[in-house]
Amino acid sequence: MMKKMFLICLITYLFLLSGDVTKAVYAQNPVDRQVFAQAQRVSGDRFTISTKTFKGARIYAVKQPSVAVLNEIDKGLTDLFAVARKNGYRAKLNYSDYVVFIARPDRLKDGEGRYSPDLAIPTNQYAGSIYDKGGYMYVAGMVLGYNPGAFIICEHQDNLARVSEVVRFEGEHILLYHNDRRRYNQTADHSQGGRHPILQ
Ligand SMILES: [Zn+2]
Repeated sequence: MMKKMFLICLITYLFLLSGDVTKAVYAQNPVDRQVFAQAQRVSGDRFTISTKTFKGARIYAVKQPSVAVLNEIDKGLTDLFAVARKNGYRAKLNYSDYVVFIARPDRLKDGEGRYSPDLAIPTNQYAGSIYDKGGYMYVAGMVLGYNPGAFIICEHQDNLARVSEVVRFEGEHILLYHNDRRRYNQTADHSQGGRHPILQ
């Protein structure tokens, strides 16, 4: 009986503790609350790590990301801003305009055996398309919100260049949303065509 009580208390305690961690992470930036909840829903992960890249993008992660990964995120945004300026876009060109969630991958390799840490998400509008794997599909990244601009990617141990590529690609949707709504609408849904890179 005592043992059972202890176990229940322990579970409650752990629950409260993890709740506090989440609260502490929120408190760093209340504007991230909504996308934070969305990131947890999409991935099923708990983002207990909160940090920033050197250039100021906000990062929430399951595990502390390496300096190399943080630099790849900055590089992806740098590439994005460069091509955005070339297209005459002016909004959302600050690193601090972006929030990146780094989730645990649901797979490590794609169908051809290449290293490809991806998230499994419900198919929705992609149902029946080539992306559909039976109710779900694998994605390298996904936009979570536009104010602040937020998206989710997966942890990478290898092929870190893929991180900057995914950041640049997900960032394109957010950037277009704020700078060119017509082009955003044309390219937001990849089942209707429109592939990355959108901006040349
Ligand atoms: Zn996309």
